[in-house]
Amino acid sequence: MTLNHPDFAHWSEQAARWGARYRATLPEQAVRPNIKPGAVLAKLMPSAPEMGEDMAAIFADFERIIAPAMTHWQHPRFFAYFPANSPAPSVIAEQLSASMAAQCMLWQTSPAATELEMCMIDWMRQALGLPDGFKGALHDGASSATLSAILTMRERALGYTGNRTGLSGGPRLRVYCSAEAHSSVMRAIWFSGIGEDNLVPIPIKGPLRGADAGALATLIADDLAAGYTPAGVVINVGATGSGATDPVAEMVAVARRHDLFTHVDAAWAGTAMLCPELRGLWAGIDDVDSLVISGHKWLGAHPGAGLHFVRSPHDLNLALAAHPTYLDTPGQENLVNFSEWGVQLGRPFRALKLWFLLRSYGLEGIRAMVRQHIKWTNELYARLAATPEIEIVTKPILALFTFRLAPKGVDDLNALNLRLIEAINDGGRIYLTQTNIDGKLVLRMQVGSYSTTAADIDIAFDAITETARRVMN
Ligand SMILES: *Cc1c(COP(=O)(O)O)cnc(C)c1O
Repeated sequence: MTLNHPDFAHWSEQAARWGARYRATLPEQAVRPNIKPGAVLAKLMPSAPEMGEDMAAIFADFERIIAPAMTHWQHPRFFAYFPANSPAPSVIAEQLSASMAAQCMLWQTSPAATELEMCMIDWMRQALGLPDGFKGALHDGASSATLSAILTMRERALGYTGNRTGLSGGPRLRVYCSAEAHSSVMRAIWFSGIGEDNLVPIPIKGPLRGADAGALATLIADDLAAGYTPAGVVINVGATGSGATDPVAEMVAVARRHDLFTHVDAAWAGTAMLCPELRGLWAGIDDVDSLVISGHKWLGAHPGAGLHFVRSPHDLNLALAAHPTYLDTPGQENLVNFSEWGVQLGRPFRALKLWFLLRSYGLEGIRAMVRQHIKWTNELYARLAATPEIEIVTKPILALFTFRLAPKGVDDLNALNLRLIEAINDGGRIYLTQTNIDGKLVLRMQVGSYSTTAADIDIAFDAITETARRVMN
């Protein structure tokens, strides 16, 4: 059945009320539902209905089938991956944006969305302490921004001929990054046609597990001597596994010597750079060509908010923008059309949630949360480090560290830690994920949810240590 405007208002109110109730009850829910694959599918109608149904029936099925079978990303004890935060102001902005349902590809299809996006990028630029020259756009996530950056890197190295001629028969491009880089870098290398064999791994060193800039210089020199065409360098600031962070200034210096494009992936850690005292971690950032931060991770801008900053939008547009007549705006040149800044043509209104978020919390509110998360992380790290049989594998970088259970006399520690993580997550009190550090299967602990409290950190300690005792017996 169709909804008239009063019905629309009624059900929107029901949805908003449901959302508030949902958030309020999260602390009592298991973070990850304890269900088997296929369980939801078995409850769904196998085909679409021929006749429209009442909203009441649809809504009831949502509450019965869908919601209980979700992993609760806004749960205060979500310590897995990096949380995708969306506090209430972000949700409210998304509700408004959903009603307008605008397609924000061009200035003329979305004047206020385009100009608010320009403004939000500049608010964030200033708040992060980035220099004047950076412009940027909002993407669905860091992965798409990184793809845009790699495509720009490729075209720049080819003198902007690659889109026309393709890559076969041309120079063999090379891109450099450490093995700690996120898988989105590898995928961008695949999608851009550069090819995995041409993504050159830079060895890492030091407690931050950062790329060795000296080794990078040698790799580039060797490639030049062998006839390759170096195109660019991808730099980690807070990589996903353990927060690995490269020496940005040193790497940019090496890249500059060879006129290589630099792209920084600070998807998670970038938000922490709102705090001036933490910016030493990315010293040198002023001189990079491209930088991405996932606004939907620590920052809290609702899923789908990749902030991409670039020094030269012109290079980006040269690599990515097409100009068919049907997308022209007759009589208006030099407009900002954000679909020319990324790989997506159709784009939702993403800036609104940032505007609501930043105005509600203020930069000080977000900084206070980040500092609190880092403090709690360090406290939990100290408690676990003092626990017999628990081994810290990497120390905290911002709000992330890794550890494992390592009792004496156990041969297969990886198998033991796999059992530990499964038991912790099946328990439902907290949710953690694992990573691989130099062949060791380890557990990642990171604090980054808007809803986490000090009591949740205590619960995390108890859940980890109690479950560890259980899997050792
Ligand atoms: C999460 C993450 C990404 C991918 O971010 P999306 O916004 O989900 O595409 C890329 N790099 C790092 C370091 C990440 O942590």
